[in-house]
Amino acid sequence: MTLVLRTTDRPAEPTSALPAVPAGSDPLLQLQFETQPPSGPGATRCLSHPPELSLRGIPVTCSACRARRDWLLINHGRNVWVCCRCSNQWLEPEISRVGFDALIAIPDGTAYPSVEQGLLALGFDGAFAGTYLD
Ligand SMILES: [Zn+2]
Repeated sequence: MTLVLRTTDRPAEPTSALPAVPAGSDPLLQLQFETQPPSGPGATRCLSHPPELSLRGIPVTCSACRARRDWLLINHGRNVWVCCRCSNQWLEPEISRVGFDALIAIPDGTAYPSVEQGLLALGFDGAFAGTYLD
């Protein structure tokens, strides 16, 4: 009896075709863009915070319009600003950078990579001063 050693007949590996590079795009620029995540040290991020925000058990209140919820939090470096619908905003030293990262994890908040995007998406430019949208 002859034992025939033979390699298993495998289907040919699918050729991993590289996605077509769009005409005109510069691979170097693309790489530069990808190596600069929005969470870098110089990045500014924003987070919508619809519910009340308690710091050490004390709910944050806007000193201008007495709003107690529906905040926009802006993080730059280690500083976090609280922004109100009435366009009043102030530096909130209680929230450190670590605190902001923790706040990003809240289920009903939405993070934006830049303040401009956040302001635009949420209408925090003062147009909705004194109103709750929900
Ligand atoms: Zn306010």
